[in-house]
Amino acid sequence: MEQTYFRKGFGLKKELRPLIDAEYQSALVERIRSHGYTDTFGEITVRLAQEFGFCYGVDRAVDYAYETVHKFPDKKIYLVGEIIHNPHVNHRMTDMGIDFIYPDSQGRFDFSHVLSDDVVIIPAFGVTLDDFDALRAIGCILVDTTCGSVLHVWKRVESYARDGFTSIIHGKYSHEESRATASQAKKHEGGKYLVVRDMAEAELVCDYIAGRPGRLTRDEFIAHFAGKASPGFDPDVDLDRVGVANQTTMLASDSIAIGMKIHEAMMELYDLEQVKEHYRSFGTICSATQERQDAVAEMMKEPPDLMIVIGGYNSSNTNHLAHLCRQYTRTFHIQDATCIDVESGRIKHKPELSPDAEEVEAVEWLPDGPFVLGLTAGASTPNNKIGEALVRVLKIRGIDVD
Ligand code: SF4
Repeated sequence: MEQTYFRKGFGLKKELRPLIDAEYQSALVERIRSHGYTDTFGEITVRLAQEFGFCYGVDRAVDYAYETVHKFPDKKIYLVGEIIHNPHVNHRMTDMGIDFIYPDSQGRFDFSHVLSDDVVIIPAFGVTLDDFDALRAIGCILVDTTCGSVLHVWKRVESYARDGFTSIIHGKYSHEESRATASQAKKHEGGKYLVVRDMAEAELVCDYIAGRPGRLTRDEFIAHFAGKASPGFDPDVDLDRVGVANQTTMLASDSIAIGMKIHEAMMELYDLEQVKEHYRSFGTICSATQERQDAVAEMMKEPPDLMIVIGGYNSSNTNHLAHLCRQYTRTFHIQDATCIDVESGRIKHKPELSPDAEEVEAVEWLPDGPFVLGLTAGASTPNNKIGEALVRVLKIRGIDVD
């Protein structure tokens, strides 16, 4: 029988590596890295976080996409949503002839135009069980780039469902990965999930579990979490036994704190032995996300005068890196080098707590005289985008490294 499901590539990685490196690497970034992650350009000292940019999951997904294009030059190739949350990498996919299938406002994909002869690439975040089944039913060739760390979380959610525990997932329900993760609960009949965005929502859950005064009523709870919980979710029944998981790119400290809060709520009802029957947890932040957050925390022990964080505005892990940096120093989250205008000296950036807006800052964003500039980038940002941004900052100061 012809193989139609691939998740280990096509053996073209070595052949395509020079092409991929040429498109995404940066000599400038390599230079700073080889100088111990610190380098000096005129009056500017540049410090690069020791872990930044493409993670192993993104590397793999991008490799597979290139391999797919070379393996099936005559076939129609689709991508389910974005390969990763970086506009430049996604544009490259379009340039290579890949068509994107975008979800509707409810996150639903329409595969009605996909034929059995076509090829469909599943992105690093994975797809929901229903979408996966729909694609298998079409019989098209599936190239599954779902990251191993995401699969690891799925297994955890599946095991919670198998054992009768509701998965409480710390994540954004609108994010592809959280939706896909939540759907894994359906692998077992009666499997339940609830997605909590942040500590404020987790507190609502904790208050309900512990029966604290002023907690939401059952109806209020159901209304508040409508669309973020499994169908028919009943807090009176489904919060009795819970297991905690998270979207892999959330802020690790937030996920841990949320898990602890829920544990505390359970401890108001049960003793240490009994609580094991009602609460489970398992760290599911991926190591790449953790390493990037740790590298920023290390850098912030001696904060630079200014920090630039580069990555897609819809990239969860990039937003979290910027959030971390803002606690310590003036930080600008930019999508790419075009946010920095050499002529006017201005920068466009995404401010904290803004879902997708940009704002313009005056030229004064760069300190006068010598200063230390910190740089990092999200797990979906290629190194050349870091290099291009740095070149523009240096140019404003009259330093040409081209
Ligand atoms: S951020 Fe982590 S889970 Fe997501 S693709 Fe990268 S390695 Fe995988």
